[in-house]
Amino acid sequence: MRAWRLLAASFIGSLLLGCAEQLVDSKDIWGDLRPGQNYAPASRMIDGWYAVEAIDARTFAINEPKSEQYNTSYLIVGSTRAIMFDAGCGERPAGSKSMREVARRLTDKPITLILSHHHYDHTGDAASFEDGVTLVDRPELRARIDNGRYTIGALESGGAVPPPLKVAGFVKDGDTIDLGDRRLSAYNLPGHTNESVVLVDRVRNLAFTGDHVYQHLGGIVAMTPQSDLPIYKANVDRLLALTDANTRYLGAHGDPHFDRAWVSLIDSELGKMVAGTATYRYASHYLVPGKMPLRVLQNGDLYIYTTPWVDPSLFWSKWSLLAIAAVLSLALYLLARLFRLLRGRSRSRPEA
Ligand SMILES: [Zn+2]
Repeated sequence: MRAWRLLAASFIGSLLLGCAEQLVDSKDIWGDLRPGQNYAPASRMIDGWYAVEAIDARTFAINEPKSEQYNTSYLIVGSTRAIMFDAGCGERPAGSKSMREVARRLTDKPITLILSHHHYDHTGDAASFEDGVTLVDRPELRARIDNGRYTIGALESGGAVPPPLKVAGFVKDGDTIDLGDRRLSAYNLPGHTNESVVLVDRVRNLAFTGDHVYQHLGGIVAMTPQSDLPIYKANVDRLLALTDANTRYLGAHGDPHFDRAWVSLIDSELGKMVAGTATYRYASHYLVPGKMPLRVLQNGDLYIYTTPWVDPSLFWSKWSLLAIAAVLSLALYLLARLFRLLRGRSRSRPEA
């Protein structure tokens, strides 16, 4: 018994020491940042909740700096209609204006809603766009349409299933969206999620990147069941090919602006993850303490979160090998005890 206790204590001790040595703490990532602080300084507040930045006279970043993840949605206006790219995080205070009402203050053109992807923090006021949502054309999305309505799954919506959304239409990878005197190219770039959409305005050289890439203290997320590292890397390559050195990139979290150097950095770090040459730290949580344990690749301000689901090499790390060794030792020890017990019983049985 003493041998087992010694083994268990040394295993737990070394595991704790090893993890503590590499643990990413939330203050490493967030610093002293508090909700309400992270948005572009040129913004004006609406309703005490939305920080609206005019990127130009007809392009608006609508940030929610007091939300848990500092979400940013976009209103992109043309001469005949406008695109609302994302519908808010769903955390706005009761009685405050919906994302649609904010968009209505900024344009009188008909508004078409397109979601950058279906995670809960981008779909908050989607149902308030009564003309419906335009979905990226993928078979698994079409399969979930019932009676002209699409229901976002519980996994994407963070547990509670949101009301079904009226489907206004579909946009295919590479399609051009005509807003009158302005055109957007739509691309389906899976990686963060399968349905991830990036919109590109070639004339203004703007790329609206959703959660595919963004520059934000919280870090890039490649940890959902849909996340796929080789596909993610291939589609960051594709974004680089679709844009150029002068493109202004606009992401869906925090102060939205970032440049091509940031996209290139994400691309090269994803490349290390795919090649199996990345060095990881460990995080006890992503944003909210108490959530699942994660591995983090860090390079300066860049954090890329991943998990064993999308990064199987975790199973071959020294820590998982140590855990396997401990479980095997325990199994062998229990077998030996059982064997001794059975042998003792058969010896003590009286002869017939
Ligand atoms: Zn997301």
